[in-house]
Amino acid sequence: MSLSRREFLERSAAISAAGFMPRLPDAWPVAAEPVPAGFRGRPCVVSSSNGIRGVKVAYDKIVAGEDPLDAAIAGVNIQELDPNDQSVGLGGLPNEEGVVQLDASCMHGPTRRAGAVGCIEGIATPSLVAKAVMDYTDHVMLVGEGATRFAKAMGFKEQNLLTEKSRQDWMRWKSRLNANDAWLDHNDDIKIKFTTGTINMNAVTASGDLGSVTTTSGMAWKVPGRIGDSPIVGAGQYCDNTVGAAGSTGRGEANIKTCASFLIVEFMRQGMAPQAACLKALERVVAMTEARLMGPGGRPKFDLEFYALAKNGDFGGATLYSGGKFAVCDERGARLEPAAFLYQR
Ligand code: ASP
Repeated sequence: MSLSRREFLERSAAISAAGFMPRLPDAWPVAAEPVPAGFRGRPCVVSSSNGIRGVKVAYDKIVAGEDPLDAAIAGVNIQELDPNDQSVGLGGLPNEEGVVQLDASCMHGPTRRAGAVGCIEGIATPSLVAKAVMDYTDHVMLVGEGATRFAKAMGFKEQNLLTEKSRQDWMRWKSRLNANDAWLDHNDDIKIKFTTGTINMNAVTASGDLGSVTTTSGMAWKVPGRIGDSPIVGAGQYCDNTVGAAGSTGRGEANIKTCASFLIVEFMRQGMAPQAACLKALERVVAMTEARLMGPGGRPKFDLEFYALAKNGDFGGATLYSGGKFAVCDERGARLEPAAFLYQR
């Protein structure tokens, strides 16, 4: 189904008039799959640990009857709009040139649709732009300048995402890169490391409808134009309404090569529990790791975290190294759960 240019512009104008965060009604409803007879599920939301506030917001929304993807996106918006979360949206750490470039993707289980944006600049909520790609275009993924222009046409507000804290961290990192360059090293103890961070959130309703979303500023100090796993459908997140949803945080380059979110959902389709599926996918990641990234004992030098949610509300999470946690909200409330792991830290 296509949208005429006139209809598109009319919709854009209406959305723009609505203000900062466009309301995104279904552009063209696609028939949702019927729920299997006798299906009994439990509403549940699972996310990376930084989603501890968001899982509660998303859970309350699905229990109130809202769509699982809209609920999950509302959950991650909290981090995207928080200037103190330097891993995503406003305040995210920039690339090596000091520019904040964001990635996000989402999937809507009931209608089997997906949307994504990569390397988008100046828009704090790329998760909502990913959903707008899904709702308003015939495409799945927009990147770079085109993604930013699309977001502005859809009424998203452009703003400077580089907070003063993130700018200072970037300058510290830059000045310490090379002792012989023309930048004088900061004479302080503040450690600036090569860091990652992201939020993934997955939601399932009592009737088994699923939604998943991942949004990030990616690796700090990355090469401009770098896209991680978060905006790649099947890597950063994946959702199949007949089985479940999965998502990832951590070293995106390792995840992209295994399409692990897709793999986890496929393992669950074969009958594995969510946690076992996450661990099995981590084994595949290790098997696919190149020699330069292997440390002592044949263990990867990076970390990667997976989160999974089954259609019936079962959930699990696993990381390469011990000590990880993930956020959950179900009838027992919002909490952090320990993640399973492959290696003791
Ligand atoms: N997965 C993200 C990326 O590689 C980063 C992260 O989760 O920390 O862009």
